[in-house]
Formats: sequence, structure tokens, C-alpha cells
Amino acid sequence: MKFGMFIYEPTPVEGFDLQVYRLKSERGIVGTPNPEMTTNIACFGDNNMASKHPDWVAQSANGPALRTNKKYNLRWDIVCNQEKQMIDYMLDLIEKTADSTKGITVSSMHVADHGFCTCPRCKAAHAKSGMELLEWRAQTVTDFIGAAKERVKNKPFYVGLLPDPVNCYERFGLDLDALAEYATAFVVPHWSKTYASPWYFESLSRGFKKLLKKPVYPGLYIRGPGDDPSELENHTQILKTACRIARTGVDGLIFLAANAQIMKDFQKACVEDVKLREDLEGYGGKPVLDLVDKWESILK
Ligand SMILES: [Zn+2]
Repeated sequence: MKFGMFIYEPTPVEGFDLQVYRLKSERGIVGTPNPEMTTNIACFGDNNMASKHPDWVAQSANGPALRTNKKYNLRWDIVCNQEKQMIDYMLDLIEKTADSTKGITVSSMHVADHGFCTCPRCKAAHAKSGMELLEWRAQTVTDFIGAAKERVKNKPFYVGLLPDPVNCYERFGLDLDALAEYATAFVVPHWSKTYASPWYFESLSRGFKKLLKKPVYPGLYIRGPGDDPSELENHTQILKTACRIARTGVDGLIFLAANAQIMKDFQKACVEDVKLREDLEGYGGKPVLDLVDKWESILK
């Protein structure tokens, strides 16, 4: 198994195989790339662009793809994935960043959710395609990922999904087999502020491992930007869930933190919890326990 970190500042932390900096999160602000890190770019989830260009926002019969639309669970505002200026902006950013860093991970590269997008751009493009609607939606996502892969050239290219293995085609236009042609590996966020019931996350990992034809890296959440630590899990359930996910045969695991200090504090808490590490022996998640052993040797 490979282990990665997913972080909102361009600061590597020792003890991970894959160091990912969120250069552009869904806030839409672009940071400064670190040549020593892999770069994450959120594509059509972009609060900044959505507020600058309201006519670019994806539309549905149930309203626009904005955080204020309570009929969906949108955590950010989403631009239509047929808006040519947005596509060109994203592909240029992906190319420029791929050239100067270790590789690219993309997130928010899909259709907003079920029922999107019904804007005039999409209606016209769909009519012209002659394709069935869901097939056309999925094709738009696959075409974007194919174009992004060309810009990334031979560097690693990780494709971020959303954690719905059953309905991701109908909801987000994710054709998992078609995307596997371009992906080095898939990142599947299992972001949650609590891991009190690891059973669900283990099941989710099993589902994606069964479906995906490229390596699968689920993601676990430590603490994101602006979170209140008192509302979050401590290291115990995160490490237990990591062991239970590892036993599903996935190929890697990614940990998300707002900054390097939170990541280091998490590593330290795991290392110091000798009783937990003993309790987790025999879970079938040995690569995770080996990772904590590695952190221990680094921290000494
Ligand atoms: Zn549209």
C-alpha cells in the first residue's frame, strides 16, 4: 500500500509516499505550486468563478448548483462543465502545474449532481450530439479527463471521484471504466468529521475496489481548514478505520489535513497510542501499523 497526504499548504510532511498540495481548492483561489509535491486542482467546483460569472453556474429544474440550493448537498458552487472559457482555464492551469510539479490530482471534474446541467449551453450541445442524455453527460466528463491527461503528459495523473459507487454515473456522469483509461489511480474521498461507524467506510472501499480498474486510494479526514477541533474525531477512530479499509485490498490511503502541523500532530498521537496500536494488531491492516512504525522512527 502507498500512503499519501492531502494538504492545504505547500509544505511536505515526512512519512508519506505521496505528498499532495491543494493548489486550487473549491474556494477557487490558486496558490503557489511546490515542485517537490503532487498538485491537486479542483476543476468545476469553484466559488470564486461562480460569483464572478453567475451565467456560468450549472443549472437544473431544482435550481442552480450553488451552496444556497438546499435541494442538493453542495458544499461549494459549481460551474457548468460545458463552459468553454472555464474548460480552457482549467486545462491551461493543469498543464502549467504538471510541468512544474510531480504530478496532478483532479477533483470536482464531474457534473454537479443528478438533474444537472440544463443551461442553454448544455441543451444546445446535447441536442447537437445526438446521444442519449446520460451517455452525453458522461462523455463530457470523460472528454475533459482525456484532455487533462494529454496536458499532464507522462506524469502521474490521479482522478478524484465522489463516494457513490452505485449511482455515480447517473449523478455525476462518472463512467468508471472510461476514466480508468486515463487515470494512474483513483482517489475516493471518504471525508467525514466522524468515523464512529467504520463499517460503512470499509464497505465503500470494498465497493470501489471491486469496480475500479486502476489502483484505488480512499481518503480519510483528519481536520480541514476552518474546522472546530472539538467537532472532529481524534486519531483513534481514524486509525481504526484506516486498518479496516486496508483489509479490503485497496492500493493506498490518503489523509487530509489543513496544514502540516495538524498532520504532524496526528502522526504523533498515533505513535504515542501504544495501546491502540496493540489493539489493532490482527485487524488485517498491517500496512497501516507499519506506517505508524515508520512515523515512530521519523519522530525519534
Ligand atoms: Zn451547462
